[in-house]
Amino acid sequence: MRAAKFFGNREAAVIDVPTPSPGPGEVLIEMRAAAVCGSDLHRYRHAPSDPPNTHIPGHEPVGIVRTVGAGVTGVEPGERVVVYHRRGCGRCAYCVGGNVMLCPNGQRAHGFACDGADADFMVTDARCLLPLPARFSEEEGVLLACNAGTAYAPLRRLGVSGCDTLAVSGLGPVGICAVMFGRAMGARVIGIDPVPRRRALAAQLGAVATLDPLAGPVGAALRQVAARGADALVETSGNPAGHAAIVELLGIGGRAAIVGMGADRPAINACDLIWKQFTVTGSNLFPIAQWDELLDFVTEHAVPLREVIGEVLSLDAAPRAFALADAATAGKVLFRW
Ligand SMILES: [Zn+2]
Ligand SMILES: [Zn+2]
Repeated sequence: MRAAKFFGNREAAVIDVPTPSPGPGEVLIEMRAAAVCGSDLHRYRHAPSDPPNTHIPGHEPVGIVRTVGAGVTGVEPGERVVVYHRRGCGRCAYCVGGNVMLCPNGQRAHGFACDGADADFMVTDARCLLPLPARFSEEEGVLLACNAGTAYAPLRRLGVSGCDTLAVSGLGPVGICAVMFGRAMGARVIGIDPVPRRRALAAQLGAVATLDPLAGPVGAALRQVAARGADALVETSGNPAGHAAIVELLGIGGRAAIVGMGADRPAINACDLIWKQFTVTGSNLFPIAQWDELLDFVTEHAVPLREVIGEVLSLDAAPRAFALADAATAGKVLFRW
């Protein structure tokens, strides 16, 4: 089968590898759609001298179950599924409670600690399968697998509502999803990103204002449209300057969720939380138990997820796909089979 592979220093290729077979408790998925995520780019950019990471990238998989391994029940070949890309132990309180992304027992992520979705087939645990209802396209399934859930979960944790001005820092695919969800939850949304095309998309999707953080002090710019500062903020850029700006963007008693992570150390001063009594939380993917709620929310609010999609390419174009995503000017880059 074909599989994408990273060779370090922004070099990617499509190579031929053996098709995997499912072990006990596992299933073989034939891929229908996948995508490049910001978190893939850390590996893509690695120097060749960094510890070798030989796993096939990709953690936003949509496909068809083809064969099931020993002991798998309740899953039939032919089912169309999304793969929840964190493989937990299946037994701890976090896994049993639906917070698989917090499993402390050797949690493995597809595309990072085991082979991922950027290949003709992948093997995963049967318990990682999430049914994709017929009302969703495979492209939407890819977005729901990671970016949409990663945007939805922090907004729910922050309790965002129509009482809030919500700042979204970073308008890549996760940030754009946060703009759409924030609007659907009733918030006034202000989008922040240095790339004009991304700001234009946020405005088109209902942001009341968009700000260029490189154009001057961003906190002062935000107060032109939200005098008391932001009530809630989602930081998706992963940029240290984005982290530092939280302090000037939030109003008194504001609450923020950190979602983005870059290669550089975050630059937020913990003492700055004191005077305005900010609440800052981290947010990591989304609980597998939130899947049905997420899908219902998207449907009931007609959230136009497909607006996030930039380019749709074949797996053979993987080198171009990663280069496009790395340039950070296009929308979400998808693979289709
Ligand atoms: Zn992702
Ligand atoms: Zn666990």
